[in-house]
Amino acid sequence: MGEFDLIAKYFKRPVHRAALGIGDDCALLAPAPGMQLAISCDMLVQGRHFFADVDPHALGHKALAVNLSDLAASGAAPRAFTLALALPQVEEAWLQRFAQGLFALADAHGCELIGGDTTQGPLNICITVFGDVPAGQALLRSGAQAGDDIYVSGNLGDARLALEALLGHITLPAQALAATRERLERPTPRVALGTALRGIANSALDVSDGLLGDLSHILQASQVGAEIHLEEATKLIASSALWESAVSGFDQNLLQQCTLAGGDDYELCFTAAVSKRAAVQAASATAQTPVHRIGRITAAPGLRVLDAQGQPVAQRWRSFDHFKF
Ligand code: ADP
Ligand code: MG
Repeated sequence: MGEFDLIAKYFKRPVHRAALGIGDDCALLAPAPGMQLAISCDMLVQGRHFFADVDPHALGHKALAVNLSDLAASGAAPRAFTLALALPQVEEAWLQRFAQGLFALADAHGCELIGGDTTQGPLNICITVFGDVPAGQALLRSGAQAGDDIYVSGNLGDARLALEALLGHITLPAQALAATRERLERPTPRVALGTALRGIANSALDVSDGLLGDLSHILQASQVGAEIHLEEATKLIASSALWESAVSGFDQNLLQQCTLAGGDDYELCFTAAVSKRAAVQAASATAQTPVHRIGRITAAPGLRVLDAQGQPVAQRWRSFDHFKF
């Protein structure tokens, strides 16, 4: 099977929301009146972001999910995406599973594949997503205000816990491994929450490299600081699977490392004025996505993690950085 047969068989589909899809030199996409295009690109590299033997269905899902997560963090609604794919060889069974996982998530979000590139090479998947957001309403990292509450959606730490187990650093009970592995391999982009938070959140981002590191991006962009209560926050945002495994024996340090600096979570971290607490709860209900209030933004710069007595804890957690690990 050649390059063009492969594209036609697995990726070419009719488009409804774009003016022109796969098949010409460019796809055509018109922003609706009054809307801005939100654009983001994320690459997944074998050996770096996923194991060679990962289920291709999950890989198709994750490749798009991490991109949709960026749209969610901006409060943008998904519209279209492109797919640049390097494949070591044409393996039809693999391609079929990959395309199924990819399109299942794409269809769930009304996001159309409108173009891409296909080449032979080490397995590498690069997706660019296009979303739309009413002009001026995108959620930015730079909007946090002193006094804002800090929130996190869903749970953090599962993906990192699964990774630690898959790397053989720890042993997890089968059930906890299955549950956390699902979160590592099939993250849920919080698109409905992101759009529901337009006009409510002052700042937002998606947690991909670990909460404390990612929150620091908001603090820097907004020129503010933050306080987080370690035990309270950890309890709120650690999932029950993680919590149960933690209780059945392993150390608090790992629990804190996973929840506060784990990475690969794809939850939203956002800030909103205290006066917006009811509106945040309403957005959470509309989006059917739980949110937890974990701290507050301060005028004084820096991120302070506090113990139960309100004393600063020395930070020993490192977020993910491709060039520092
Ligand atoms: P060009 O030679 O202009 O770069 P290609 O021959 O690479 O174009 O691609 C032909 C058409 O197929 C284009 O419309 C391109 O967007 C689309 N395409 C190529 N690879 C993919 C892919 N992996 N997924 C979706 N569309 C693709
Ligand atoms: Mg061309």
